[in-house]
Amino acid sequence: MKIKDISTYILKAPLERPFSSATMHFDHRKSLLVRIETDDGIVGWGEAGQFGPAEVPRSAIEYIFKPMLIGKDPLETEKLWQEMYCYTRDYGQKGSIIEAISGIDIALWDIKGKALNLPVSKLLGGRLREKVCAYATGLYFRSDFTLEDYIKEAATFVDKGFKGIKVKIGSKSLAEDMALIVGFRREFGDDFLIMVDCNHAYSAKVAIRVGKELEKHGVYWFEEPVIPEDIDGYIEVRNALSIAIAGGECEFTPYGFRNLIARRAVDIAQPDPCVAGGITACKRIIDLADLFGVLVVPHVWGSAVAMHAALQLIAVIPDQPSTNMPRPGINQTLLEYDQSENPLRENLSRSSLEFIDGYVTIPGRPGIGVEIDESMIEKYSV
Ligand code: CA
Repeated sequence: MKIKDISTYILKAPLERPFSSATMHFDHRKSLLVRIETDDGIVGWGEAGQFGPAEVPRSAIEYIFKPMLIGKDPLETEKLWQEMYCYTRDYGQKGSIIEAISGIDIALWDIKGKALNLPVSKLLGGRLREKVCAYATGLYFRSDFTLEDYIKEAATFVDKGFKGIKVKIGSKSLAEDMALIVGFRREFGDDFLIMVDCNHAYSAKVAIRVGKELEKHGVYWFEEPVIPEDIDGYIEVRNALSIAIAGGECEFTPYGFRNLIARRAVDIAQPDPCVAGGITACKRIIDLADLFGVLVVPHVWGSAVAMHAALQLIAVIPDQPSTNMPRPGINQTLLEYDQSENPLRENLSRSSLEFIDGYVTIPGRPGIGVEIDESMIEKYSV
């Protein structure tokens, strides 16, 4: 089998109600999809990147990797990953080049699964779980939102069955942020999972002060307390607090995660499959994290393709520590289930994910399990 063609699609969907995190504003959602076709007609889909303009990783795919890969065997995923990485190492260790590799790698795994008629999770060694507890990502900043509005938004997630939420902080005063956490705790009870994400808005000193407040209210994890480059800052924050520290959505490749994990900078590593180097790189990160007792909870924020790729990896993430009595929110991975407005998450796949009583069933279809509706690709392409 040979790679015959690689195509890229930039999809954009404007938002009815724009929103912000502590460090970014969103008035549209976009995805860069990668479609790889083999000489015997198998088509694999991947998604590249999350945060920056899609044109940059797209250029890397079109100008660097496509000419390299045409005619190669798509089943040799590890070998092709090494070839792509080594070819671009001198200038591409982090950022858009790795996002480009990620999208290609996911599409290659999708092809491998379809060629062998197996879900990627089986090809990665076997499914440790058939379903995963999901937490809701939402509760972004809106200038017109009151505490009551946020509690109402969170209540819609609880009504859907979610057992946990992730709250954005870092844009307002500490008192206002804490009022939100106190409100959620009061409203949803002591067992409800509350995670907090400041999108690296703080210095280490401020993060420690904020974290000490979060500790009082049973927050499960504090995400991206400091900038991703500041590993020593992460360590300072982690050593000063008793709550779990999460991070890694802006980190790339097993080499990048080696620093976060081996230096014990995080309790929870959050590689994004579309950012950190695809399924090949994320499986290596999962294995590395397991050796150091670090739980992996992937960052997921993209389209239906990103969701499906992440779920296949989630199937193979060991509990920390591994046990016959897994407890979501204590020692088991979770699915980050973005609930903010994103037509590309809802409309690209012909089949929707099964979500029952707070758990998402991990698809068992061949490949990553996404069934792309190509009319939607046309609709959202720019
Ligand atoms: Ca985050």
